[in-house]
Amino acid sequence: MTTSTEKTVQTVLNYIDGQWVEASTGQTAESLNPANVDDVVGRYQLSSSEDLDQAVEAAWKAQKEWRKLPGSARGDILFKAADIMEKRIDEIARTMTREMGKTFPEAKGETARGVAILRYYAGEGMRPVGDVIPSTDSSAIMFTTRTPLGVVGVITPWNFPVAIPMWKAAPALIYGNAVVMKPASEAAVTCAKVIDCLHEAGIPAGVINMVTGSGSVVGQGLAEHPKVSGITFTGSNGVGKKLGQLALERGIKYQLEMGGKNPVIVAEDADLDLAVDATISGGLKSTGQKCTATSRVIVHEDVYEEFREKLLAKVAEITVGDGLNEGSWMGPSVSENQLNTVLSYVQKGKEEGAKLLYGGNRCEKGANAKGFFVEPAVFDEVTPDMAIAREEIFGPVLALMKVSSFEEALDVANDSDYGLSASVFTTNISKALSFINEMDAGLVRINAESAGVELQAPFGGMKQSSSHSREQGRAAIEFFTSIKTVFVK
Ligand code: NAD
Repeated sequence: MTTSTEKTVQTVLNYIDGQWVEASTGQTAESLNPANVDDVVGRYQLSSSEDLDQAVEAAWKAQKEWRKLPGSARGDILFKAADIMEKRIDEIARTMTREMGKTFPEAKGETARGVAILRYYAGEGMRPVGDVIPSTDSSAIMFTTRTPLGVVGVITPWNFPVAIPMWKAAPALIYGNAVVMKPASEAAVTCAKVIDCLHEAGIPAGVINMVTGSGSVVGQGLAEHPKVSGITFTGSNGVGKKLGQLALERGIKYQLEMGGKNPVIVAEDADLDLAVDATISGGLKSTGQKCTATSRVIVHEDVYEEFREKLLAKVAEITVGDGLNEGSWMGPSVSENQLNTVLSYVQKGKEEGAKLLYGGNRCEKGANAKGFFVEPAVFDEVTPDMAIAREEIFGPVLALMKVSSFEEALDVANDSDYGLSASVFTTNISKALSFINEMDAGLVRINAESAGVELQAPFGGMKQSSSHSREQGRAAIEFFTSIKTVFVK
C-alpha cells in the first residue's frame, strides 16, 4: 500500500496473506469526502466470497504458528506497529477527517488512542492468563489457562475507523488469534492505513487480513465461514441482530456492540455550566455520530429554563465546516444517507409536536454547499414516547425533556431499549449513588459527558446496545479466548 498525501486518490487493495491484492471481481467503489463530494479520497475493492475465502484460509494456516509464539513475541510486533502508527498520526488522522468527516483534532485524538491500545495489548502478552485452583488431591495440580478461538472475524463501523478496529484486533492478536477484518466502506482507506502499520511492523503473513466490500457479501460471509470461530461486530442493531442469529446457529462465539440513545440527567443542584458544556460536547462532537452520544437531555424543572438558555447560547456559537479547517467545531454527516436520516428525524420531531428551538437545517451555502453538513438541532417539549426520544438518530440532535423529580428523571432515563452510556450532573452524593445503582447502562458517568471510557476499562452496553460481553482492558480476554482447565497428576 502506498501512503498518500492529502489530495491523492488512493486505491486500497485487500490485504491477504501478507500481500496487497486486487479483488477477483476487478471492481472497486469510491470513498468520497463528506465535506466535499467532488473530492474522491480513494477506491476500495468490491470483493467476492472467493476473496474472503482466500483471506480466511490464509488466517487459518497462519494462526497455527502464531498461537505458538510467546505472548511477548506477539507483543513485540504490536509495540512496533504502535511506534509506526505514532509516526504516521498526522497522515492517518488527515485521511480520517477527509474520509469520514470528524474534525482533525478529534481524528488525531482517535489515532493516538489507536497507538495507546496497541501498546496496552502488547503489554498483555506478558501478563498472567490463568489461576491455580487448589485440588483435593494432594498429588495433583489444577490450573486454568487460556486458548485462542482461532480465526476471528472483525466487522467495524465508520465512526471510529482506527480505535474500533484496534480495540478488536489488538486483543485478538495478542491472545493468539488470527484476524480477518471487514472495515466499513465509508472508512476503508483509513482502516487500510492501520493495517499497513501492522504490515510494516512485520506481522507474519496471514495473521491479519483485510477484505473490503459489501456487508452482505464480506461481513455476512465471515459469519458464515466454517473456518471462522468468532465474530466481533460494532455497528447498527439491525445488522448486529442478524449476525448474532447466524453465529448462534453456527454455535460460534459472537460479540455485538450496537446503538445507543444516551441520556444525561441534569439535577436541580447541578453545576449548570459544566452540564451545558458536557451536553454539547457529548451530543454534538463528531456530529453526534457516536454510539455513546448524548441525545436525551432530562432536566429538573427548577433549572430547566436557565439550562436551556445557556445551552442555546453555546449551541449558537458552533461552527460547522470541513473538519480539516481549523475554525470548524463540527464536521459533516458521513454520507447523504446519514444526512437524510438526521433531516427526517428533525421533520418527525416537529410533526410529533416537539418544538424545534434551534437548527436542524441542511447547510447549503458557501464552502459547505458540496458537503453533507447539517446544523445542530435542539428540541424542546420532547416527551418520552416521541421517536426523537426513542430511536437512535446518529446525528447532532438534542431532545430536551422536563421532569419534576430525580426519581422521574431516572424513570425517563431508563425508559429506553438501549443502555450504553448515561450521565448525571449533580452535586448531591445521594443522587449520584442512586444513579450508579439504578441506571441501566454499561457506562455510568457522574459529572462527565456521556462517552466511552479509558481504554483500560471495560466498555459495552446493556439491553439492546450490546450482546453484553465487554471490550477494552482486561475484559477483552473473555471474548478472545476460552478457558482451558488443566489437571495434572
Ligand atoms: P452498520 O451496521 O451499517 O455497519 C457496520 C459494519 O457492518 C460495516 O462494516 C458494514 O459493512 C457491515 N455490514 C453491513 N451489513 C452487513 C451484513 N448484512 N452482514 C455483516 N456485516 C454487515 O453500522 P455503521 O453505519 O457503520 O455504524 C453506525 C452504527 O454503529 C450505529 O448504530 C452506532 O450506534 C453503532 N456503533 C456502536 C458502537 C458501540 O461500541 N456500541 C460504536 C460505534 C458505532
